[in-house]
Amino acid sequence: MSDYINVSKIFGENVFNDTAMQERLPKKVYKELKQTIEEGKELDPEIADVIAHEMKEWAIEKGATHYTHWFQPLTGTTAEKHDSFITAPMSNGKVLMSFSGKELIKGEPDASSFPSGGLRATFEARGYTAWDCTSPAFVRQDAAGATLCIPTAFCSYTGEALDQKTPLLRSMEAINVQALRLLRLFGNTTSKRVTPSVGPEQEYFLVDAEKFRQRKDLVYTGRTLFGAPPAKGQELDDHYFGTIRQRIAAFMKDVNEELWKLGVSSKTQHNEVAPAQHELAPIYAPANVAVDHNQIIMQTLKRIASQHGMKCLLHEKPFAGVNGSGKHNNWSLTTDDGINLLDPGKTPHENIQFLLVLTCILKAVDTHADLLRESASDVGNDHRLGAHEAPPAVISVFLGEQLEDVMEQLISTGEATHSIKGGKLRTGVRTLPDLAKDATDRNRTSPFAFTGNKFEFRMVGSRDSVGPANTVINTIVAEAFKEACDEIEKSDNFAEAVHDLIKQYASDHYRIVFNGNGYSEAWIEEAKRRGLPVINSMVEAIPALTTDKAIRLFGEFGVFTEAELRSRAEIQYEAYAKTINIEVKAMLNIASKQIIPAVIKYTKSLADSINAVRAACDADISVQEDLLRETSRLLREAKTALVRLNEIEQEAINMEEGAVRANFYHDKAVPAMEALRRPVDELEMIVDKSVWPMPSYGDLLFEV
Ligand code: ADP
Ligand code: MG
Repeated sequence: MSDYINVSKIFGENVFNDTAMQERLPKKVYKELKQTIEEGKELDPEIADVIAHEMKEWAIEKGATHYTHWFQPLTGTTAEKHDSFITAPMSNGKVLMSFSGKELIKGEPDASSFPSGGLRATFEARGYTAWDCTSPAFVRQDAAGATLCIPTAFCSYTGEALDQKTPLLRSMEAINVQALRLLRLFGNTTSKRVTPSVGPEQEYFLVDAEKFRQRKDLVYTGRTLFGAPPAKGQELDDHYFGTIRQRIAAFMKDVNEELWKLGVSSKTQHNEVAPAQHELAPIYAPANVAVDHNQIIMQTLKRIASQHGMKCLLHEKPFAGVNGSGKHNNWSLTTDDGINLLDPGKTPHENIQFLLVLTCILKAVDTHADLLRESASDVGNDHRLGAHEAPPAVISVFLGEQLEDVMEQLISTGEATHSIKGGKLRTGVRTLPDLAKDATDRNRTSPFAFTGNKFEFRMVGSRDSVGPANTVINTIVAEAFKEACDEIEKSDNFAEAVHDLIKQYASDHYRIVFNGNGYSEAWIEEAKRRGLPVINSMVEAIPALTTDKAIRLFGEFGVFTEAELRSRAEIQYEAYAKTINIEVKAMLNIASKQIIPAVIKYTKSLADSINAVRAACDADISVQEDLLRETSRLLREAKTALVRLNEIEQEAINMEEGAVRANFYHDKAVPAMEALRRPVDELEMIVDKSVWPMPSYGDLLFEV
């Protein structure tokens, strides 16, 4: 690797992107594929053979020996099965490298062990993968050599979605149809496609690999299950946006180089709030590409960290007492000819369209707050949401001073006659103000914030896919657009109809707007008064998937069938129970085999020293005695908590799977884990560091 990176030379060099396709494919095939991609049509199998052949030749030049259908099952990560290009040896003992159109567009991984929430049991045991040709294929170079990765959707044989990608693509189609309808009503005849644009900001921690290995909790669960707070935490904020240290800088340079080669436009990087915490953001891309790229980013962070003797922690809450990690999901709607529907625009006409789009989004978020909350639910995220460091567990929308003022005028008088920032006033229909780009301070505590020309959904967990969140946003906004279009089409006065809808949506759904401090206790009380759903945990969020409202919504737009929704709820419950089960087992193991023996060793050394001093002279030994008493008391407390946790674990094993078991883990196991952690963390503060069996928070966070 050279010292200096020539970005424009390497950018996208490992991607079978538009340039590569144009260079390699016959003109006619290229044109057909482009059309398929741009218009979301189905790929003609005849041209697939030609594309496959050229893609293979291109990949082999990059050193690829294998190809894989790269997919995103409901495990939260990605999956792949590698096949080499070689065919059966010929009579001369040589092999050919081949790759057919059939192999490109459809794969059959023996994937029966991926979660299906009962879907496959009732239909087909195997699933198949299908090329998502709107997300380009790429060659990944790693220890396995070079592999051609083909982004795919993963479905059952009867077409049920078994992955994150399929519903996302369906939701993108839904919003495309409804947004185009809305644009046409506003007189736009030129835009051909509306695509959700997504830019996810990824937070992560880096720790030293050797220290990581000494922490079995990190190894098995990705987070620390024990750990006393360090002498210094994040209170000085001296790490935030601080100078990036050389070891980290070298890591980031390699990450960027890898990502750029893969066409991921890694753009910003900085230190985050917590010590050892960092962030990486790419430039936004079409939602499905952004979801794929985010997975590539997470994998690349992990791989490059290992090469630098570090471990990248993507868990939402690796350390208690310091901030956890999330993923801010920036979302907007863009037409193929470059119009952003969330841009307030410069003319009153554009402003009106913008205000309708905005109030539709308010309506969507208010109506389906439970679904949005669910889309960000992840076991690790339970430690973050509502813990005064990340958005609260209540969904609300931040609009900023100017828009809030406009909304209030609309609601109270039916007209908005002035705009705080805009000043000048040009009326379109009745009175609507000119909107200038709002420069008010951003509210970091809001879960769903308008930030000038996009919404930022800040609830998603750092480890989680951004697929589900965007699937929900696209679908609920599609529904609101549809209902608005239905109304407008019925009316014979377009301007009046639009104006009335804006006012109606703003008044009916104003309760979802909150510009204050989302971390305050008062807000939770206020939210309850407003009737907003307060959903505190993942297990409480899951039922949102299967309400009549959700089944109707997703069914109407062809995003999920009822069976798919039920399967997803099952999978979520299972994921919750399994994750907590692993944490419980790891805790029991570490406490029994590492911590209790270490503490006993320490008490023995105290007792030995007491006896030795006593034998030697009549010196004061009350300190040693106090320590011995205190240590023994905490040891007793820890042992009692351990026994209790073990009993709960035994009870859980025999329990019915699904909601019952997940709730049992949440209600019983989680508090029992806390009860074990408390005395152990206290012991860590007392016991001689040299006998404590694992690196401390200080070692992990400040010695990377
Ligand atoms: P912030 O101030 O919130 O960090 P940035 O401008 O750095 O905002 O953008 C954060 C993320 O939002 C980036 O991934 C960026 O590409 C993305 N983003 C910017 N504009 C849009 C947009 N119109 N739609 C979707 N994402 C966007
Ligand atoms: Mg941001």
